[in-house]
Amino acid sequence: MQSTDGPLLIDSDPQFAFLKDLGLNADNKGVFNGSWCGSGEIVTSVCPFNGKPIARVQQGTKEEYNTAVENSIEAWHDWAKIPGPKRGEIVRQIGDALREKKTELGKLLSVEVGKILPEGEGEIQEFVDVCDYAVGLSRMFGGNVFPSERPGHALLEQWNPIGLVGVITAFNFPIAVYGWNTSLSLACGNTVLWKGAPSTPLVSVAITKIMTETLIKNGISPAVCTMVNGGADIGEAMSHDNRIPLLSFTGSTEVGNKVGTAVQKRFGRSLLELGGNNAIIVMEDADLDMVVPAVLFASVGTTGQRCTTTRRLIVHESVHNQVLERLKKAYQQVRIGNPLEADTLYGPMHSQMGIDLYDKAVADAQAQGAKLEYGGKRIDRDGFYVEPTIMSGLKHDADIVHTETFAPILYILKTKSLEEAISWNNEVKQGLSSSLFTQNLERIFQWMGPHGSDCGVVNVNIPTSGAEIGGAFGGEKHTGGGRESGSDAWKQYMRRSTCTINYSKELPLAQGIKFE
Ligand code: NAD
Repeated sequence: MQSTDGPLLIDSDPQFAFLKDLGLNADNKGVFNGSWCGSGEIVTSVCPFNGKPIARVQQGTKEEYNTAVENSIEAWHDWAKIPGPKRGEIVRQIGDALREKKTELGKLLSVEVGKILPEGEGEIQEFVDVCDYAVGLSRMFGGNVFPSERPGHALLEQWNPIGLVGVITAFNFPIAVYGWNTSLSLACGNTVLWKGAPSTPLVSVAITKIMTETLIKNGISPAVCTMVNGGADIGEAMSHDNRIPLLSFTGSTEVGNKVGTAVQKRFGRSLLELGGNNAIIVMEDADLDMVVPAVLFASVGTTGQRCTTTRRLIVHESVHNQVLERLKKAYQQVRIGNPLEADTLYGPMHSQMGIDLYDKAVADAQAQGAKLEYGGKRIDRDGFYVEPTIMSGLKHDADIVHTETFAPILYILKTKSLEEAISWNNEVKQGLSSSLFTQNLERIFQWMGPHGSDCGVVNVNIPTSGAEIGGAFGGEKHTGGGRESGSDAWKQYMRRSTCTINYSKELPLAQGIKFE
């Protein structure tokens, strides 16, 4: 069970002493709006692997939020004037500061989110990688020059910063998602206001300390990176705030729908990274030695709490039983334990709420005709542990199969053909990630083409999770349509000016119009 009473782990347990090296204390101020403050509700961060309180954070009030917006806009005027490559140099230093603290920050993700250490450190590495990417970008975000139809005219695009970017993040990738948005925003000349999940407040405080220390060291206003800890109240304020021209939201489809609607109503721009319901398709010609570890990683990794977790496994009928049996054997070998211990592969869920969602989904699936093939129960130990679970026998269009349950439950479905499997892949509302395992070249190109997967991430012979930062990341349909991270995702953080310059002494009009 979860408890906010009792001694705080940061003071009482030597395993948690490293948090002090990240500037965290028993009681922390949860707002940075140019200086550290926080006089709202006090929240206690709870450790998922033992259910005990780690430390307290005092969230922000509406007034403190308001000051954060004002100060960040004020800071924007100077920040936007700094040449792009010089801003890139600051982002490089932020990346270096993160590199230095990679171990401690990775451990912070283990104790506050519940991730195993390699995944925690991987998340920091992702932020570092995006910083490197943004440093290059700061010298490269160029506009096109087009041939003008008018003599003595130049026609070109200039990309300008957009202003203050709001970033709302989910509990499961609190650092990497903030990192994608912030590195690109800073390189592009924007300032940032971050609201993390209320259950990961220590992450928000520790990362903001690193960001602002680097800014101060360089004589730059630290209000370039503001942060307000809070819940739906602060998130809603950001959605309705005209002073935030771009709001990047990562979280559930349900909340993202509200955010997207509110931002659209004020003609703001939103970037939505919402829920997924990802499938792996396994054809009869697939290399099953690759399929089994790939499915294991994608369905069990991060205890099923990735937006890209594989939730549906669609297997050709001729290899279905073989894949299921091999997968069950692989599940038996998953080492469940404390995420801080080196050989643990599978840690706790993030919170009691996750366990309740898991219990409900297992019961609902059984009521809808599922057979429990593996797991299905809570694990009797301290913290929020459940068994990784496989269920078979459901119809491809059962309600529960079409629902994103943010828990380690995999539904295995039997298919007759690739065409049928693709139609099942595409029939859910979400459109984030998808994978096909096959050795057949024709099938691969069918999968990638117009009648293939309708997702934003379309993989072949790799799992649905574990994206690289170089490609644009995001999904279609109820996943929101946003793209963050690599490729040309930076364009979303800028405003495009189409500039026509007449350097002649005549005034010809476009389309040959005479207006004399
Ligand atoms: P959530 O929607 O409950 O919360 C996300 C954030 O929204 C939190 O910071 C929360 O405080 C805030 N919020 C809550 N109500 C709000 C409101 N009315 N207005 C504005 N903000 C509000 O999601 P969660 O449980 O933290 O995260 C899990 C979900 O996030 C899953 O659906 C997962 O698929 C999704 N996710 C998607 C991606 C992606 O890149 N597509 C990445 C990570 C997580």
